Amino acid sequence: MKVLVASSEIVPFAKTGGLADVCGALPKALRRIGVEADCVLPLYRCVDRTRFPFSGPGVAVPVPLGNREEQGSVEETDAGGGVRAFLVRNDRYFDREFLYGTRDGDYVDNSERFTFFCRAVMEWIALSGRRYDIIHCNDWQTALLPVYVKTLYADREPFPRTGTVFTVHNLGYQGLFWNHDLPMMGLGWELFTPRGLEFYGKINLMKGGLLYADILSTVSDTYSREIQTPEYGYGLEGVLYDRREDLYGIVNGIDDEEWHPAADRWIAANYSANDLSGKAVCRRDLISVFGLPKGDEPVLGLIGRLTGQKGFDLVERIGEWLAEQPLRVVILGSGERKHEEAMEKLGRKYPDRIAIRVAYDNALAHKIEAGSDMYLMPSRYEPCGLNQIYSLKYGTVPIVRETGGLADTVVDADENPAAGTGFTFRRFEAEELKGAVARALAAYADRSRWDAIVRRGMALDFSWEASARAYVDLYGKALRKRAPKG
Ligand code: ADP
Repeated sequence: MKVLVASSEIVPFAKTGGLADVCGALPKALRRIGVEADCVLPLYRCVDRTRFPFSGPGVAVPVPLGNREEQGSVEETDAGGGVRAFLVRNDRYFDREFLYGTRDGDYVDNSERFTFFCRAVMEWIALSGRRYDIIHCNDWQTALLPVYVKTLYADREPFPRTGTVFTVHNLGYQGLFWNHDLPMMGLGWELFTPRGLEFYGKINLMKGGLLYADILSTVSDTYSREIQTPEYGYGLEGVLYDRREDLYGIVNGIDDEEWHPAADRWIAANYSANDLSGKAVCRRDLISVFGLPKGDEPVLGLIGRLTGQKGFDLVERIGEWLAEQPLRVVILGSGERKHEEAMEKLGRKYPDRIAIRVAYDNALAHKIEAGSDMYLMPSRYEPCGLNQIYSLKYGTVPIVRETGGLADTVVDADENPAAGTGFTFRRFEAEELKGAVARALAAYADRSRWDAIVRRGMALDFSWEASARAYVDLYGKALRKRAPKG
């Protein structure tokens, strides 16, 4: 089986969130279990061309966009682990400072940029003679691929036999664009109906992926059920419910080479469940990096995109209460300005208790995972979530809202003392969050109990192998749907 993983961000080339981690790790995990997997993404400015030199001249690919033609090319490089990465080049679209937009909003031509990307991938496959059995698409930026396979390219080789899997990493971002872009996308108006890509008068690319892919998945079981309801479905719950027989949930693995306390190159000292002494060194280092006073109180860490999704408004609401607890809080994040300002304000008000760094800083994220005692993730919704899994691996006890992947990966230690790995709360309310933090502090005061919770988390297996095998099952299901009937 040959698989092409298509995504708008892939580690180690470009990343803004968990999507990139998944699309970087999955092809490598597939290769390890004997599946030939490549990946494809846009060639952004941030791709490090010294570290990833192109192997030879790129393949020129003329790309039809509406009634004009844009020139593109596809460059090839080594992604590591036996995976070939293909980078779709058009400097006008992708040689920019950011992937999707600035802090003040999305790039206005995102519809055209990602239409170009998807059509370039289709044209490149057709022209280059590369044969993939499966195209694995991820989120709205690649959602046109399954649409093209079944419409515009339905009769063009090799697509009549190509299976498509579409994975939803975050339903909160759907790729909504005005309907006049339809001809630019190369699609006919017959697709612009409520049963098609139309969504309240606009084009909804995510909806296209959900309608046209052979198999659908999301990144946890709980999220796959939640998104069939109005609370989490963002208007697409009906489409998802209609396709529930083809919808699966697979929790993300984590990249053991990147996130492993015994081998992490970014932290002050390495450690393992057998010898946790290095964790104390990491904590001292973290405290000094953030300029907090020394002391014995536990450190609570928080990393993430500063958006409503991640529950930063809830953190803001309990800020004063947090500052009164026997705790020190370190926060790393960047995103919406209002949340950045609110967090900075908290830091200024309680300089000895709460420290905030507004940045995107991978090394610091590692230091926080290693040096904190507890980790907070009060998400409004969370398709899978990676940081709570990193926390479990790093012996940093997660405090999470019971939703999506958080519900599937963290077991409350009060509700289930024998299997507990963290602390959870249900409703998105300040009092519930305070309750969970208070319960974690009470557990922390009992050293042997805390130690057992830490060790249970560290012993869990979140390697990619199991998830990769589950994806191979889905690829099989998608191919069976494409096999000629009779
Ligand atoms: P999402 O994909 O919704 O942003 P995840 O928890 O699935 O959330 O993944 C987030 C990933 O991005 C993690 O690897 C996390 O460490 C990283 N990350 C998020 N914000 C930052 C930041 N400000 N600095 C460094 N890493 C970050």
